[in-house]
Amino acid sequence: MELNAHVNADEPSLSGERLTGKVAVITGGARGIGAATAKVFARNGAHVIIADILDELGAALADSIRGRYVHCDVSKESDVITAVQLALTWKGRIDIMFNNAGVGGPNGSIACLEMDQLKTLLDINLNGIVHGIKHAARAMIRRGEGGSIICTSSSAAIKGGLAAHAYTLSKEAIIGLVRSTACELGMHGIRVNCVSPHGVPTEMLVSGYRRFLGNTDLGSEEVSRIVGEKGSLLRGRCGTVEDVAHAVLYLASDDAGFVTAHNLVVDGGYTSASNQMS
Ligand code: NAD
Repeated sequence: MELNAHVNADEPSLSGERLTGKVAVITGGARGIGAATAKVFARNGAHVIIADILDELGAALADSIRGRYVHCDVSKESDVITAVQLALTWKGRIDIMFNNAGVGGPNGSIACLEMDQLKTLLDINLNGIVHGIKHAARAMIRRGEGGSIICTSSSAAIKGGLAAHAYTLSKEAIIGLVRSTACELGMHGIRVNCVSPHGVPTEMLVSGYRRFLGNTDLGSEEVSRIVGEKGSLLRGRCGTVEDVAHAVLYLASDDAGFVTAHNLVVDGGYTSASNQMS
């Protein structure tokens, strides 16, 4: 079987009307999982705002899907307020908030964890999610028509990963926060869920493997091969950004109207498999 055989984000089969007229903000939308989700959302009729710190990449993608781009460092609450505000001034509403921005590492022993590195990571991976849920919820509650908030956690929250303690901590905390906010926001018709990918060879994963294996020459083909062999029950196949985008599309759409406080794992069976795989 061909390694990582996958569907293309530009394939018409991903088109539909599942999000017609909905307004979505996607943090970390300039590349990787966020960018694939932006394309799939737009192809399903949503108006998409890409919120990221990679201005050139984010703006080009936003242009290509007739969306909007806003510079947004999710660790800064004021930037997230600006991103949500853009949705309100542009279309008068926000229906979907995909809190996806995240960073990896540091890798290494807990005995060597630098507390300032931990703080920097939590500022983005955790406080960034808090900012996103908080301000999307405010706008959704005010409008009174409900909404869908989706956050990106990780298989690391379930199984640990690559001696990345700070990362694991941030991703497990997200699942707890999703459950508690879902309990509160359900009365407003707002669903809060998360998606937990595993082993998708994006910039973040490839640089994580480079750090972990101490090999700066490692390319995405090699990472795909490693993950395909060890990180999935579906032999010869690692996850793709489109696999995750489809899961997010489901959670964002009315198809998931009775799904809340859920962690949708997109990992080719990795987290349910026995330890012989890891
Ligand atoms: P990626 O590096 O391609 O994308 C991450 C995006 O987040 C980039 O566009 C980046 O610019 C943006 N970002 C980083 N810091 C930011 C900040 N402070 N403010 C706003 N945007 C910021 O990697 P990806 O794999 O697409 O990662 C997306 C999410 O998926 C992350 O939360 C990551 O932890 C999670 N995840 C990925 C995998 C995987 O296998 N790739 C597995 C589990 C979880």
